[in-house]
Amino acid sequence: MNQVRSKVAIVTGASRGIGAAIARRLASDGFRVIVNYAGNANTAAELVDQIEAAGGQAISAQADVSDPLAVKRMFDAAEETYGGIDVLVNNAGIMKLASLAESDDALFDSQVAINLKGSFNTLREAAKRMRDGGRIINLSSSVVGLRPLNYAVYTATKAGVEAMTHILTKELRGRNITVNAVAPGPTATALFLDGKRQEVIDELTRLAPLERLGQPEDIASAIAFLAGPDGAWINGQVLRANGGII
Ligand code: NDP
Repeated sequence: MNQVRSKVAIVTGASRGIGAAIARRLASDGFRVIVNYAGNANTAAELVDQIEAAGGQAISAQADVSDPLAVKRMFDAAEETYGGIDVLVNNAGIMKLASLAESDDALFDSQVAINLKGSFNTLREAAKRMRDGGRIINLSSSVVGLRPLNYAVYTATKAGVEAMTHILTKELRGRNITVNAVAPGPTATALFLDGKRQEVIDELTRLAPLERLGQPEDIASAIAFLAGPDGAWINGQVLRANGGII
């Protein structure tokens, strides 16, 4: 706890779902947290209140990660409030499913803008501004290995995120900054549950040998490991946190 007391973590897309669990966990591990969100100001503010009530430190920061200037402003706010940035968790993401033939331009453009360009925007900023000894963790997805029908564009964005993970690992040589990705399987959040029939949810729940959906806290635990002292020697890896689905 004391070892990370003064460290600062930006968690993108932290107003709900996996990102909120990550922000809560990192705050309880002693990080000062920037709770980024796009539209849900109220839930982000509630999370900050909960973190503070539990004795942690956090601020919320609105920024659409697909907008490079907004991302710059979020990094400015982190530096102005807490003096620097030690951890970036690139969690913000959207998922839109359709067969490739049925995927329209908006489906493609929105996922590339938020999942791929959004990660690029924050990674570029982090590569320039993060303090030595930092940790970068990108959210990929186990669909990169599973390659399910109707996930072509979403999977392509996450494969791109994994590619940037591996190359940035090398480009940050000499600064003691690790870059890794965590690739969840089906996890019980709005992104996974919304719009799916119960039979589909049940089928996907049974896929993992552990026979349950992941919970946001399961993913937050993997992130906390990579962000904390025990993760120091893990670099350039993709950790699939999915109950054994692949
Ligand atoms: P949710 O839909 O539950 O939450 C998404 C979060 O991202 C929200 O906080 C939302 O903010 C934020 N967000 C969306 N667009 C933007 C944007 N343009 N700029 C900033 N923030 C944005 O998703 P999950 O928690 O399920 O997913 C988190 C990550 O995990 C994603 O990268 C996803 O691809 C990945 N993942 C999820 C899996 C799952 O089964 N759930 C499986 C594998 C990977 P706001 O509330 O303000 O809209």
